[in-house]
Amino acid sequence: MAALVLKNRRATLERAEKFVSPVYFTDVNLRGRLFGANCPVESLSCFLTESRISYETAVNGDFTAAKVGDSFGPTWWTSWFRVTFSIPQEWKGKEVHFVWESEGEAMVWRNSSPVQGLTKEGEKMSYILSENLTDEEAHSVELYVELACNGLFGAGQGSMIAPPDPQCKFTLHKAELVVFNRDVHELLTDFEIITDMAKYIGTENQRSYQALYTANKMVNACDVADPATFAEARRFADAFLQQKNGESQHVVHAMGHCHIDSAWLWPYEETIRKCARSWVSVLRLMEKNPSFVFTCSQAQQLEWVKSWYPGLYAEIQEYAEKGQFIVVGGTWVEMDGNLPSGESMVRQFLQGQAFFQQEFGRHCAEFWLPDTFGYSAQLPQIMKGCGITRFLTQKLSWNLVNEFPHHTFFWEGIDGSRVLTHFPPGNSYEMHGKVEELLNTVKNNKDKGRVNHSAFLFGFGDGGGGPTQEMLDRLHRMQNTDGLPRVQLSTPDTFFSALEGDTTMLCTWAGELFLELHNGSYTTQAKIKKGNRKCECILRSIEIVSSLAAVQKDGFQYPSSQLQQLWRLLLLNQFHDVLPGTCIQSVVEDAVKYYEEIQSNGDKLLKEAIQCLLGGCVQETGRNVNVLNTLPWERTEVISMPRLEGEEVLALIKVPSVGFATVTSPMVPPHPVIVTVQEGGSVTMENGILRVEFDSLGRMTSLLHLLYKRETVPEGSHGNQFVLFDDVPLYWDAWDVMDYHLETRKPMLQGLQPVEVVCPGGVRGSIRHTLRVSDTSRIRQEVTLDACCPYVKFKTEVEWHEAHKFLKVEFPTTVHSPNATYEIQFGHIQRPTHRNTSWDWARYEVWGHKWADLSEHGFGVALLNDCKYGYSVHRNVMTLSLLRSPKSPDATADMGQHQFTYAIMPHTGSLQEANVIQFAYNINYPLHIVPAGPGVCASSTWSAFSIQSPAVVLETIKQAENKNKALVIRLYESHGSTVETWLHTSLPIKQAIWCDLLEKPLTAKCCSINDSRIELSFTPFQIRTLLLLL
Ligand SMILES: [Zn+2]
Repeated sequence: MAALVLKNRRATLERAEKFVSPVYFTDVNLRGRLFGANCPVESLSCFLTESRISYETAVNGDFTAAKVGDSFGPTWWTSWFRVTFSIPQEWKGKEVHFVWESEGEAMVWRNSSPVQGLTKEGEKMSYILSENLTDEEAHSVELYVELACNGLFGAGQGSMIAPPDPQCKFTLHKAELVVFNRDVHELLTDFEIITDMAKYIGTENQRSYQALYTANKMVNACDVADPATFAEARRFADAFLQQKNGESQHVVHAMGHCHIDSAWLWPYEETIRKCARSWVSVLRLMEKNPSFVFTCSQAQQLEWVKSWYPGLYAEIQEYAEKGQFIVVGGTWVEMDGNLPSGESMVRQFLQGQAFFQQEFGRHCAEFWLPDTFGYSAQLPQIMKGCGITRFLTQKLSWNLVNEFPHHTFFWEGIDGSRVLTHFPPGNSYEMHGKVEELLNTVKNNKDKGRVNHSAFLFGFGDGGGGPTQEMLDRLHRMQNTDGLPRVQLSTPDTFFSALEGDTTMLCTWAGELFLELHNGSYTTQAKIKKGNRKCECILRSIEIVSSLAAVQKDGFQYPSSQLQQLWRLLLLNQFHDVLPGTCIQSVVEDAVKYYEEIQSNGDKLLKEAIQCLLGGCVQETGRNVNVLNTLPWERTEVISMPRLEGEEVLALIKVPSVGFATVTSPMVPPHPVIVTVQEGGSVTMENGILRVEFDSLGRMTSLLHLLYKRETVPEGSHGNQFVLFDDVPLYWDAWDVMDYHLETRKPMLQGLQPVEVVCPGGVRGSIRHTLRVSDTSRIRQEVTLDACCPYVKFKTEVEWHEAHKFLKVEFPTTVHSPNATYEIQFGHIQRPTHRNTSWDWARYEVWGHKWADLSEHGFGVALLNDCKYGYSVHRNVMTLSLLRSPKSPDATADMGQHQFTYAIMPHTGSLQEANVIQFAYNINYPLHIVPAGPGVCASSTWSAFSIQSPAVVLETIKQAENKNKALVIRLYESHGSTVETWLHTSLPIKQAIWCDLLEKPLTAKCCSINDSRIELSFTPFQIRTLLLLL
């Protein structure tokens, strides 16, 4: 052999790369030898269908001849193919593949079973017919191929996230039998690893040069026309790859994964097929690779496959039994981490863990949410209450402004609960098992020296696809080779146990994991946000009233299975591209349909339960009414009494906590509402608590807290000021609102109808007005001040037809505070009102639930709402985000009619002392008014539960899972305080036992019940659940 002296690094590297290139010199290089002989299929026929049909229906379809080169469509249709072929006898001893190369996503069916998913975008084009063809094997084969006319990422017109092109065509490029040269494949993999090591290990490291010269030697040794020479090339590769790492090397735990968005750029229905295509391919890999482990989250997707592909599901369960197919996450879907209510989050786990337990015999030990847009600071406590102490995500690597300082750390929630949290340092959940990714995993790790283990999730994702044999082959070669981290195929349990082995050096991050991106997703698709809030409220109400009816009335059947079904629909819509509003139009339509189903079925269930509990009848309209309150405090409110004549009669009434009042005579307000119209068109309303003044445009020029004699609107400012912003993000249209939108603020100053009085006073004062937003958009408002009510309510209707505009409403205040407070799940958090640091500035648009509050010592202002989630409080101005108008991926997002309500509430004392939390609940849970039977003539009240301390909220009352004679109630400490208090109940409770969020008793010991009272104690923001045995 010629002596090698000094070689040009670039030329040497490129020579090796060209030797395996799929693009260059394939006529003479190694890649060109991957496939041997080929043979066309005998027959190919197909038919097109608009709907997604079963295999059984498909095989009876009307097939007509088709050929390679034909195109199929349009988008979202399905083309079913029947393919027959004969494997040539002379291929005996060869590895034979059926190659299908097409656009769209294909599933191969054989003998009535799905056997292989084939998607070019997911680098899967081969179905292996035989690894070593024998005479005994069937040579004549019939297959069916189900081709979904959509890509892995839908069918965006021009860009991935653009709305789908409804007229796409999907071309079949190849359908044939080939001989697969396994020896060439193995050598190609060696080459790929070694050239990548030469390329990506820095030139300061001699290992890079060792790799380079090894690759060069391999090219010299290899004669592509003579497979007998491959062995020597492989020996060079082995000798290099088997040079081992030192003991201190970082350990990468590789786990197969396939992130499947439950709906995004494709509808829910297609996801069912995506799951089947992805997972059947995973099973094929498991057959060949016994050490291959695959992690799978989202109970809903498994449930789909269980009902649509029972045979495949049974195989999945077998591999789960073997420990290769591992269920993770514990939740029903990978939900949004910000907007679902606390109870919704509990139900994600309750439904998810129950499914995993029933179907796979275990609860998940890890919470798995790699792709969600931020994580609530209450999640650690919820996870722990659901049997989970480990958490995996990576999304904070998308932060636009600040780099998160850890990859492995303890995450501490608002109650002090801590969970071990890991962000795979490769900053992705769809690795391909490449050298560069492994090197980045080590390089990026922010906890060097503290942690020596990282997770590495490999497999095509988002649209499904999953791992490939090539990924596994690469990882296999890199288990322990000098210059790279150690790699082991691992389970989440092995990985987290390794982390747990030594946590002494881990840091703690307290509070929310805020994603500094996608902050428009708190507002986009207002109908979805409203559907979520309203359905959360109705399900809570149904459960409470049904629980009370089941205890109080013989024969009432608690609607467990209907409720489970409705909850699961709601939980599904909380998926991390649906609730954030970042999905295509057809997904929005499905989501709205599900909300309507929950609403209409829920209304029916609620009505039945109310009628059973109260005995009244909606048809009867006497003078008297029953008023039902599901909230755990007494309420004094103005209601509208139904009258035979059909007209509305307003009345001030009082209802007890979780109970009802039969009202025969309304209360007389201590201070009636007085409405005064001033010269110049301004109007003043006053109720003894507040005095509020509006100009003719409906803007608040003054809001006076009468008791405190405190003006809330700064001199010269206007509250209830609508403002419009240009809203053009950099790319992620439905997702992002960028900081620069704040520089385009335009106040809405054109009235269409000036303020006029609707209710002249008494128990209610109200005014209305209409504003012009543009030629096509307008805002109509009715502003109400009720007797005894500490807030002004703005019932708002918007006709909205804009493009890339963002509508908000502002309330400048006279309050000075460095922090504002926002409601989150079962509690609240504070965020700064200043922009001192980049971390503060990056929170220019934030999320909250029913209220936000800006308070200084002794006084504050709260902003309440009934279906919004986007806020910003900068300095003294509180802003509620109302409507956006992005055009991708849904060109029709938010166009049309909207109704929502918000309220402004100045208060003395702290937000806790002023009961801001309670009033925000009240706005979201209107009282239920039912005409009393004709026999009712005396006022009376009944309360099922009441709590002594206003700090403790009774959030949930439901029937215990799988137990008829027991209720579960959930309470939380809402003030951020340590509380000793008691719960009073008038229900015949025999025993009360503390349990976890999955309703498993925490101790065998019962709580003592004395005089219908149960003693309770809480630490700040603690969530506690009681099992009440009847
Ligand atoms: Zn996702």
